[in-house]
Amino acid sequence: MQDKTFGYRIAKTIDADVVVCGGGVAGAMAAVAAARAGASVVLVERYGFLGGNATAGAVAQFNSWQTANGRRVVAGLADEVVARLGRYGGAGEHATFVMSTGHRMDRVEYAPEVLKLVLDDMVQEAGVRPLLHASVLDVRVAGRHIDSVHVLTKSGVVELRAQVLIDASGDIDALQRAGATFLELDDGEALQPATMMFRFGPIDFARFEALSKTEIAALARRGYDDGQLARAALHSSRDPFSADGWFNIGRLGIDATDAMALGAAEIEGRRQAWKAAQYLRRCVPGCEQGQLRAFGTQVGVRETRRIVGDHVLTSEELLRPEQFPDAIAAGAYPIDIHPAAGGELRYEGLGDDHAYQIPYRSLIPVGFDNALAVGRGVSATHSAHAAIRVMTISMAVGQAAGVAAAMAAQPSQAGHVRAVSTPALRERLLGDGAKLA
Ligand SMILES: Cc1cc2nc3c(=O)[nH]c(=O)nc-3n(C[C@H](O)[C@H](O)[C@H](O)COP(=O)(O)OP(=O)(O)OC[C@H]3O[C@@H](n4cnc5c(N)ncnc54)[C@H](O)[C@@H]3O)c2cc1C
Repeated sequence: MQDKTFGYRIAKTIDADVVVCGGGVAGAMAAVAAARAGASVVLVERYGFLGGNATAGAVAQFNSWQTANGRRVVAGLADEVVARLGRYGGAGEHATFVMSTGHRMDRVEYAPEVLKLVLDDMVQEAGVRPLLHASVLDVRVAGRHIDSVHVLTKSGVVELRAQVLIDASGDIDALQRAGATFLELDDGEALQPATMMFRFGPIDFARFEALSKTEIAALARRGYDDGQLARAALHSSRDPFSADGWFNIGRLGIDATDAMALGAAEIEGRRQAWKAAQYLRRCVPGCEQGQLRAFGTQVGVRETRRIVGDHVLTSEELLRPEQFPDAIAAGAYPIDIHPAAGGELRYEGLGDDHAYQIPYRSLIPVGFDNALAVGRGVSATHSAHAAIRVMTISMAVGQAAGVAAAMAAQPSQAGHVRAVSTPALRERLLGDGAKLA
């Protein structure tokens, strides 16, 4: 490969206590929590709106707030998001449903466009400075210390100097630029596929939802065998404002950090969605009058880079479940692996009252003193990530990282994230309504 060095001029420098790169649900919660804990915060996001997979990816349902028998394990800022969505009329109630695999869980369906407004409100009210339309370009490092993040904006390259960096970019682009190390897949593992979500309607939900699990499975199998569906599923969530549904039935086996592959997947994802919509119209009861109304702004990306952290969370620890003294969030979502090459989901349900914990050490990248990773970049094996990747848990982890970063940014700590007292962090999170078990 050719080695080239390009210079560029810094158009502007901004100082803050905490810089959060990536405004998905994990980054938005991290920014809000850090600002509410007293830090000055800049939130960098490449799009003109926040939410990531939750808005641009149009995932449209927050899954798994509680154990199968109904014990709440995620709350805090995530609850506030749902309450605010409700005030705009943009979310349904917590509803229990039974997966095709037989697992019982709860979810909240929401309107992705309204979530953009809710996240705008939350960051602005908290005093976070959002830097939208800004992409991570480079990171300057001195030894174990992140000095600054350079982002490309309409005003040119902006330098962001902070005590603490929180990488919430999903793909963990900032830490990648800083030279961090990432976990490898084991033999036989593949990155979870991406999916182009699409909105379809109107749907006669009375008839669609009256279909039995067996009927749905048979229709999905027929669509897949006929080459109309990319996976044998008719999984959707209902738009709270209309008789439309957001369908999650595409499958794109790519590494989304490969720019050419990502672009090709957007095109293929739209083709898959179009074909699936025709199948719904033709063959699925309740969908005869529907048409494809919208694609996600981009393909939803389930998995890319996961940091090597001070602790690598494993699926064995989730299944035991291991009790961590530095637990900063909890979850109850099962291990849910979509095979990239096709075929059935690997879905490992948990026991009725089973919840697991996420330790603070899994947010700390080895080799750096003043950085944290949140959301789908947390240090976890492929199979543990398959459980903790959902938005409920991402919001809880984001909240914890925000508070931790504000604590680390105190002058006495000089940005050192390992110097944060985890008992004090946990106490603060519990005081703010979070659940840790
Ligand atoms: C198809 C699909 C279905 C899913 N289904 C569910 C479900 O039903 N329920 C559930 O709870 N979860 C579900 N998930 C999982 C969930 O959506 C994600 O794991 C979660 O949203 C991760 O949040 P995040 O904030 O870590 O990352 P992301 O949502 O990926 O956010 C990252 C943010 O960083 C920004 N960014 C990225 N790179 C840069 C850069 N270089 N510079 C600046 N900004 C950058 C992005 O634009 C984005 O806003 C699903 C995911 C997918 C893909």
